[in-house]
Amino acid sequence: MIDVHCHLEQKDYDKDRDEVILNCKKELKAVITCCAHPKDFEKSLEIVRRNKGFVFLTAGFHPEFVSEISREEIDKYLGKIEKNKNNLVGIGECGLDYYWIKDLKSREEQKKLFVEQIKLAKKLNLPIIVHSRDATEDCIKILIEQRAEKVLLHYFTDKNLLSEIIQNNYFVSVNTSIFRSKSIKKIVKNMPIEKLMTETDSPWLGFGKRNEPTSVKLVIEKIAELKNLSFEEVDKIITGNAIKFFDLNLST
Ligand SMILES: [Zn+2]
Repeated sequence: MIDVHCHLEQKDYDKDRDEVILNCKKELKAVITCCAHPKDFEKSLEIVRRNKGFVFLTAGFHPEFVSEISREEIDKYLGKIEKNKNNLVGIGECGLDYYWIKDLKSREEQKKLFVEQIKLAKKLNLPIIVHSRDATEDCIKILIEQRAEKVLLHYFTDKNLLSEIIQNNYFVSVNTSIFRSKSIKKIVKNMPIEKLMTETDSPWLGFGKRNEPTSVKLVIEKIAELKNLSFEEVDKIITGNAIKFFDLNLST
C-alpha cells in the first residue's frame, strides 16, 4: 500500500509526526508527501531526509495561494525545486482552482503558473501532480497543449471528463472521499485499474478527525469491492502503479 498524496509537514502532525510515520512504516510500502507552498519546503525536505526510502516528496505551488505570493517568491521557490530535483519524485500539486479563486486576473495567473510548472516537470523529467477544482476542462486543455505525459490527477471527481483522462493516459488517485461521492465511485468503476493510485490528502479528509496515510487501506478495500477483485489483487496492482509512475527507490 502506498499513499501517493498527503501533507505530512502540516502542523497537525507537529506533536507526533515520528509516531505517525512509524505507524505508516508498519503497514505501508511508501508515503509521498506533497509540499504545496514555499514556506513548507525546508520542513518537507527534512521529513524526507529523516525517512529516506520510505517518505518521498513532490513539490509545487498550489493554485489556491496564487494571490498571496509575489513573483519574486515564486521564482525563488521554483529555483529551489530545481536545485533539489534529486530529492523529489514529482512536481505539484499544481493546477487550477476555480472554486476558491473567482476573479479572472488571478485565474489567468494560475494558468501561467501551471504552464511554468508543467515545463519544469518536463525539464526535470518528473511526473506532474495536478490539483483541479471546478476547472478540469481548462486543466486538460493546458496539459494537452503543453504535451504533458506523466500526469496524475489527484482527488479527481469530474466523471464527465473521464474518457478524456483515459484517452490521454493520465492517472487518477483516489482517497477516502470515495465513501461519500457517487462520482468517484463511478470513476473507479470505469477507470482501468492500471491507471489508479491511492492517496489520503492527510491531514484532511478525515471526516471530523485528523486523517493519516494508513487510511489508504480503506480506499483499497472499497476499490476492491467496486472492481470485484480481492484486496490483495488491487493492492498489488495499485502499489505497482505508484512505484513505476514515481520511479520510487524503496528502502525495503
Ligand atoms: Zn493536497
